[in-house]
Amino acid sequence: MLEWLIVGGGIHGTHLSLVLRNAGVSEAALRVLDPWEGPMARWTELTSRTGMTFLRSPGVHHIGLEPYDLFRFAGRRRARDGGSLRGRYRRPSLELFQAHAQARISEATLEALREQGWATDLCRIPGGFRVETNRGALESRRVILALGAPSPEDAPHWAREWTGDGSVRHLFGGDLDLDLMGRRAIDSGRPVAVVGGGISAAQVALRLTRQGAPVLLLARTPLRVHPFDSDPGWLGPKYLRAFHGERSPRVRRALLEGARHRGSMPEEVAGALRVAVERETLEFRVGEIIAGRRATPEGVSLELLEAPADGAPIGARGSAPGSGEGRRWIKVSTVLLATGAGPGIPGDPWLAGAAHGMGLPTGPCGFPVPHPSLRWTENLYVTGALAELEVGPASRNIAGARMAAERIREAVTS
Ligand SMILES: Cc1cc2nc3c(=O)[nH]c(=O)nc-3n(C[C@H](O)[C@H](O)[C@H](O)COP(=O)(O)OP(=O)(O)OC[C@H]3O[C@@H](n4cnc5c(N)ncnc54)[C@H](O)[C@@H]3O)c2cc1C
Repeated sequence: MLEWLIVGGGIHGTHLSLVLRNAGVSEAALRVLDPWEGPMARWTELTSRTGMTFLRSPGVHHIGLEPYDLFRFAGRRRARDGGSLRGRYRRPSLELFQAHAQARISEATLEALREQGWATDLCRIPGGFRVETNRGALESRRVILALGAPSPEDAPHWAREWTGDGSVRHLFGGDLDLDLMGRRAIDSGRPVAVVGGGISAAQVALRLTRQGAPVLLLARTPLRVHPFDSDPGWLGPKYLRAFHGERSPRVRRALLEGARHRGSMPEEVAGALRVAVERETLEFRVGEIIAGRRATPEGVSLELLEAPADGAPIGARGSAPGSGEGRRWIKVSTVLLATGAGPGIPGDPWLAGAAHGMGLPTGPCGFPVPHPSLRWTENLYVTGALAELEVGPASRNIAGARMAAERIREAVTS
């Protein structure tokens, strides 16, 4: 039986494995279960899809041990890559972040910890847990669940009948060929419709324009500009004290929802969008898709309920979807949904069943209600989205990985 099994080898699982190794856990006692080839593969794939060149988060948020570790690493490479830390928060370039992560992974030989596979169930056994996977079972005294964000939502109602034909794709879904989408737009003369109002939607829209493709960015609201996806006060006592003082998971969920700047982007990305609109390489519209038709082999028709020109929210002033106000049909080549993670719970449905079977506490929203040490039950810990009712709005971010690892390390070494 293993001493430690981390389920999920993304940013959180990789950082946790480094922290545990540094706390003295031996290589033989620890494994990281993840379906992909190498550490952080999912992050690497998704960030590369968006075309982002810089992270949104500051340079103190990375997978290494010490907060200033990435700055020291950047300093040693300065001759080669000046300009890879940007602005007041010294946000790292994706290239720098990845190079630093790879260096820390190699030094600590974290690849050796990996077990490839998907967890499909979890149950208690004498002395620990059994994790069922698609490649057999693993047994461990302690388990950390680091499953990442919930999967993106299924196709929207207006596309359910024809999603199989590849004309509607999710940016974070499987089997995505963005270059092909760009080429289809160029060949047909119809834009790719990128649906979403947040940073990833903006970044991938800009990426497609760089390919020379016509792009229509469709958002439900005008651009929302925020430097981060939640206020930095959520990283420390400024806001977390009141959050932790609140015991009701229902109220904590409401606080979380209120704290997140969903569908927002930093000024730098919003500025690049405005420039693209001015240069007419990208069209930006505020509205909601209410119907869709697979029109011809080359394209799709979408019925759009456009927002009132004064920027009032869609559906305000009686303009309910379907009322006729601001409705129009538009023709596009393909649709790229860039609407972020889904609203569900990571590990759905097996984890919910396992939690129910073991009688683990969950809130009305279905998410775990862990102890402040992030222990869901004895020797079972959570991080990332699964820990957000305890860690707060930054839980899903890189900062959340560092906050979670600190709590779990303290719990197991004290
Ligand atoms: C495009 C993009 C840009 C982002 N930029 C930033 C940023 O600049 N700053 C920031 O702080 N945050 C950012 N985030 C948010 C967040 O930091 C990342 O999503 C980060 O990858 C979260 O780490 P994670 O380990 O929780 O999830 P992931 O990196 O997604 O890793 C989770 C892993 O668990 C695996 N897994 C899931 N289910 C199972 C299972 N049943 N069995 C085994 N393995 C499983 C997944 O396949 C995956 O490999 C960004 C997110 C995206 C998508």
